[in-house]
Amino acid sequence: MENALNAATASGSGQIVVAGAGYAGLHVALRLTASLRNHSKMELTLVDRHDYHQVITELPRVAGGTRAADAVRIPLEDMLAERVRFVQTEINGFDWAGRRLLTGSGPIGWSRLVLALGSRPNDFAIPGLARRALSLYSASDAEQVWEAVSKALTAAAAETDPERQRRLATVVVGGGGATGVELAGELAEILPKVARDHGLAPDRPAVWLVEAGPAILAGSSPELIDKASRILSDLGVQVRTNAVIAAATGEGFQLTDGQLVQGGVFVWAGGVKAPELVAHSGLPAGHNGRVKVDRYLRVLDRPEIYVAGDLASVTDPRTGHVLPPLAQVALEEGETVARNLVAELEGRPLEAFTFHDKGFVVSVGSRRGVADIAGVTSGGRLAHLLKDAIEWEYRQSVRHLRGWDPLAR
Ligand SMILES: Cc1cc2nc3c(=O)[nH]c(=O)nc-3n(C[C@H](O)[C@H](O)[C@H](O)COP(=O)(O)OP(=O)(O)OC[C@H]3O[C@@H](n4cnc5c(N)ncnc54)[C@H](O)[C@@H]3O)c2cc1C
Repeated sequence: MENALNAATASGSGQIVVAGAGYAGLHVALRLTASLRNHSKMELTLVDRHDYHQVITELPRVAGGTRAADAVRIPLEDMLAERVRFVQTEINGFDWAGRRLLTGSGPIGWSRLVLALGSRPNDFAIPGLARRALSLYSASDAEQVWEAVSKALTAAAAETDPERQRRLATVVVGGGGATGVELAGELAEILPKVARDHGLAPDRPAVWLVEAGPAILAGSSPELIDKASRILSDLGVQVRTNAVIAAATGEGFQLTDGQLVQGGVFVWAGGVKAPELVAHSGLPAGHNGRVKVDRYLRVLDRPEIYVAGDLASVTDPRTGHVLPPLAQVALEEGETVARNLVAELEGRPLEAFTFHDKGFVVSVGSRRGVADIAGVTSGGRLAHLLKDAIEWEYRQSVRHLRGWDPLAR
């Protein structure tokens, strides 16, 4: 691991540079490591603003105060082999003609680039939203949500008027996708206990889940939506569907039907888009600014640049829809990119990307969840255990991949 750039890095010859050490980028780097021993002239550089990988799928637990933020930050040092040069720096631009990443530590040259910079919350230009609502896309974001909730309950406890107490102790989550559902479930379960700790009546806090569409977990089977809705209702979450937020003001979320949803903490989990840095970079933009790629995951008309993860706009030929921004999609794309880079090095044909859907699992609170696996829908304790198992397996696989490279020891 090193933080400073050297001359070889800047020259760009024989360099594979992976931008982003999230689900997609880290997997490209880990998968490529073993192959590099057969290609001694090829160097691999991984670039990220953080020196840790974030297990984003566990953020709702951090935001709900049941997991420490540091527990979802895995130091990259623990995972990367010595053959991988790691540069911790902010990427702030691209020099496409010169094949260089422009970073806070100077330019980094590449002969092949993998863009895996993830996504950013999409506020859909709703007035006031970015300023008034917290987001949930990093361990620090999740810490901030939990701090804001704790602060709001402290403020509520200092009030005597039950109405004001109730308003301050209400958390409003915008966006009823998997992230919003998981966050609402976590909070609804923990808040009565936290309220008691603050000297408040346990029924004083409330959690609202506000969704613009006709149902939560859009795109899921009616059975799964029904099971998730029942668990949320059991936990006391107030779900409002067909509730379109027109503006976020100091008073709360103003809906287009005139209703004002008031609360003490507002969190936006209503969707993601490509980071501005990439959206304005001149690369061909697809859905929500994500980068359009060919079937080998290379940028259209720029075969020297691969894109993987949330940043890639990949249409599933079976459904005609762009694949959703999910960790399991990012991991599979990372695998294909790594294999295609090795194929290029060895002069073999590239492999077209095909998504193998392993199913959909959402935790709802700390003990229950819902899952759709191979057409079978389940809800309850089993689905939650499945989610735990997936997260455990992910952490194991990341460690296993490091061990997979004999040169890493
Ligand atoms: C709260 C939450 C819960 C989720 N739960 C699930 C789930 O249960 N299952 C599931 O399949 N998916 C889930 N997702 C979606 C999943 O987390 C994403 O699809 C996945 O993280 C995408 O991986 P990625 O590699 O594209 O991006 P990321 O994992 O976000 O990685 C991007 C990396 O790029 C780095 N980076 C970005 N910009 C710069 C820059 N300018 N300079 C330097 N470094 C930079 C970042 O630091 C980061 O390390 C969830 C998402 C959220 C927000």
